[in-house]
Amino acid sequence: EQTDAVETVRPENPVKPMTATEVKVNVSIPEAGERAAATGADGVGLLRMEHMILSTNKTPERYIEDHGEDAYVEEIVDGVRGVADEFYPRPVRVRTLDAPTDEFRQMEGGESEPHEHNPMLGYRGIRRSLDRPEFFKHELEAFRRLFEMGYDNVEVMFPLVNDAEDVVRARNLMAEAGVDPEKRSWGVMVETPSAALSIEEMAEAGIDFASFGTNDLTQYTLAVDRNNEHVADRFDELHPSVLRLIGDTIETCREYDVATSICGQAGSKPEMVRFLVNEGVSSISANIDAVRDVQHEVKRKEQKLLLDSIR
Ligand code: PEP
Ligand code: MG
Repeated sequence: EQTDAVETVRPENPVKPMTATEVKVNVSIPEAGERAAATGADGVGLLRMEHMILSTNKTPERYIEDHGEDAYVEEIVDGVRGVADEFYPRPVRVRTLDAPTDEFRQMEGGESEPHEHNPMLGYRGIRRSLDRPEFFKHELEAFRRLFEMGYDNVEVMFPLVNDAEDVVRARNLMAEAGVDPEKRSWGVMVETPSAALSIEEMAEAGIDFASFGTNDLTQYTLAVDRNNEHVADRFDELHPSVLRLIGDTIETCREYDVATSICGQAGSKPEMVRFLVNEGVSSISANIDAVRDVQHEVKRKEQKLLLDSIR
């Protein structure tokens, strides 16, 4: 089938080094899609849905009240489409909504958000989505429409899952919404120690990929609030405990043929890049400004591993 998605192919970055490990890019706002695509990245490792909703300055509930369900779905479709066009046929991994209640509270309609002592430990990501399937289903409907339009480069990613039960429930809702988990690429963020420790069961639930959200994985592994300046010096994505969870998860994923990736900030750090390539990660997603450096760091590490293996 012919769609505008199929017609948009961008020229590759001519000096991009060839690497076995893919290097992708994170996109927080759809408007950055063109700049992100021009990096020559192998795809988008994380496209956050938050901005598409929060830029309207309304909570999803208020947006739907004011404009209706269809407009809400189209808001998401439009946001994803812009980026999916820029990258086609390179894959674009879209994460379902993950905003904590304190962020939603600043929006119109935010007064009905629950007050939480620890929003980062609370009602966000897949927890909120599974608790409110009547809202989550609109996000899934957006994916259904995108696939129907021919955007077969779009992938579905669920944030803040803890275990296989979260994954199965999300997968079933996706299937109910008309997105076939057998046909589409879908997966999870590994952002909690529990998710890392449940990776085998999640693999059995059929995920195609697992992506390390090291901002949260570090916060939850070390019990260090990522937004608390008083403990900021303890926030260390390269802490041995974080690296052990990541390394073990990659090893299990390789056994199950589940692709692995990183889309947290640490993916832009050279030490983390070297660690991940050594562990055999499938892809690394970096910030737009770091893509070039990460491509070269990956290349150097791969060459070193090759040399070490034949010496
Ligand atoms: C992460 O936790 O590393 C991540 C990429 O998600 P966010 O920063 O949006 O929580
Ligand atoms: Mg996160």
